[in-house]
Amino acid sequence: MTARLAIDGGPPVRATPLPYGRQSIDDADVAAVAEALRSDWLTTGPRVAAFERAFAEVAGVAHAVAVSSGTAALHATMHALGLGPGDEVIVPAMTFAASANAALYVGASPVFADVDPGTLLLTVEAAEARRSPRTRAIVAVDYAGQPCDYDALTTWATTHGLPIVADACHALGGALGSRPVGALATATTFSLHPVKSVTTGEGGMITTADAELAAAARRFRNHGIDTDHRQREARGTWAYDMVELGFNYRLPDVACALGESQLAKLDGWVARRGAIAARYDAGLAELPWAAPLEVRVGLRHGRHLYPIRLRAEHLRVGQAEVFAALRAEGIGVNVHYRPVYLHPYYQRRFGHQAGLCPVAEQAYGELLSLPMFPAMSDADVDDVLAALAKVGRAYGA
Ligand SMILES: *Cc1c(COP(=O)(O)O)cnc(C)c1O
Repeated sequence: MTARLAIDGGPPVRATPLPYGRQSIDDADVAAVAEALRSDWLTTGPRVAAFERAFAEVAGVAHAVAVSSGTAALHATMHALGLGPGDEVIVPAMTFAASANAALYVGASPVFADVDPGTLLLTVEAAEARRSPRTRAIVAVDYAGQPCDYDALTTWATTHGLPIVADACHALGGALGSRPVGALATATTFSLHPVKSVTTGEGGMITTADAELAAAARRFRNHGIDTDHRQREARGTWAYDMVELGFNYRLPDVACALGESQLAKLDGWVARRGAIAARYDAGLAELPWAAPLEVRVGLRHGRHLYPIRLRAEHLRVGQAEVFAALRAEGIGVNVHYRPVYLHPYYQRRFGHQAGLCPVAEQAYGELLSLPMFPAMSDADVDDVLAALAKVGRAYGA
């Protein structure tokens, strides 16, 4: 007996749709924000520094610089590394556009590298294939929350004198062995958007062991000015120097109050994401037409996303039909990501053609991200698995 799919008019597995990602806000978060709102500081007060200290501790590094988004974190890092026109930055094709856009913001050129077919992570081989005399940095993206092989990447990058920017927007709370994400690259960037591991509404963070890099990022977030107003107040002076061109990329105190409160719950959330992933893994083992990504051993996965790959040979329909059928069942699936260079802007500006990164392109045609957020119950996970089984009975080959 095959139950009629919701897309064909049958009853959906879920009456209330399950989103693919969602923030968790509790009373402690609300109280922390309320306290900040009643304080003297709405922006650039004591909570910025407190949040940065707490974040640096989680990331196992000396410096954390709070900024207004993950994109601002990437932009500030590109600037702090001194990248500019004529420079090339190697970026994996399988990422959110911001990873590459940041190179363009400083006048540098993103050069797209393919990814490993099992993990969809940047590899040394793929980066080496794109290295040129103009290469000045690489961006390593911890896709879905799995940390890249930073040992191999660092050995290679050091040989060529290249800094590594870790785009860890998916991977806060992850680790390689006992070394946390945030301490694995020259600089690491995080997003604090509501679907990410912890949130400040909008927000971002840069972590680094390099004091000068951190200072440059701090200037960049405040117009290129070398002190902030609290430092000037403490010194009893109005004078400041704008020493370079920066932006207003500051993260307000109110947002940092939320961030610090959220960060206290990170470990529990990452553990819950891991348990959800394990339940998905077990359920997917029953389905010939969908497979999880590979996970390397010896790491803690941040599990921002739970992507599956569709196996065309076991399906009578394509990705779009499976996507639409699952959405109709009330399962908020998504696709992460279209290879960046296939976006119209990149095609128009750089003339990139399909075929540049075949592994990423093939994956794009097969990927679906299943709902993944710590507040999901086991029953929610089972609804997703039930919807997958139902769709598989209708569409499986
Ligand atoms: C979310 C994300 C960003 C951008 O972060 P924002 O805070 O939305 O600006 C950059 N890179 C990756 C991989 C992301 O997932």
